[in-house]
Order: sequence, then structure tokens, then C-alpha cells
Amino acid sequence: MVVSEMREEKKAHWEGKHFSFFTNRECEYFPCHKGVDPAEFNCLFCYCPLYALGEDCGGGFKILENGIKDCGGCTLPHRRENYGKITGEFQRIVDTFRKK
Ligand code: SF4
Repeated sequence: MVVSEMREEKKAHWEGKHFSFFTNRECEYFPCHKGVDPAEFNCLFCYCPLYALGEDCGGGFKILENGIKDCGGCTLPHRRENYGKITGEFQRIVDTFRKK
């Protein structure tokens, strides 16, 4: 096995696939968060699925005085490399709702 084949095997099934990444440059708010290269900005999780996990989402949120969770400073769902991290949390999201 050559080195390039070994590297290919280590890639996650979603890496480099269109279903795991798209950028909506026509969006009136693009780019809605600073800190991500616009060429690498993933709009797929525009409304972050991890929001449902509350303070256990793993992102860079802050809680406002009125108790609302503010995700304005978080870029986690917009980074191309985080597709697997987000989809890997779907079961935990379902479990969270089941408990409620
Ligand atoms: S955008 Fe960031 S802070 Fe907000 S829910 Fe998603 S991961 Fe958490």
C-alpha cells in the first residue's frame, strides 16, 4: 500500500464531499460570523443543531443577562472540519429531548 492510499483510508466518509459543505454567498448575512475564512465558511448548520444541548454544546457561547444563550462569537458550526463533530452529536441531542 502506498502512502497516498493510507492517507485516503484515514479520511472520514464525509471529508471532501458536497453534502457536508456549502457556502451561501448570496445570503444577506454572509459571512454571519467573523473568524472563518469566507472560502471555508460552511453554511450547512446555519441554525446550530447543538443549540439544543444548552451549556453542554461545546461551543463558545455566552449567557446574556436575560438568560439567553448568545452564539454570536462562536464559529464551531461554520468550520468545514466540524461536520463530523456536529453530526456525531445527533444521538446526544435526541437523548436530551427524550429526558425533557
Ligand atoms: S453556535 Fe456554538 S455556542 Fe451556539 S450552540 Fe452551536 S456550538 Fe454552541
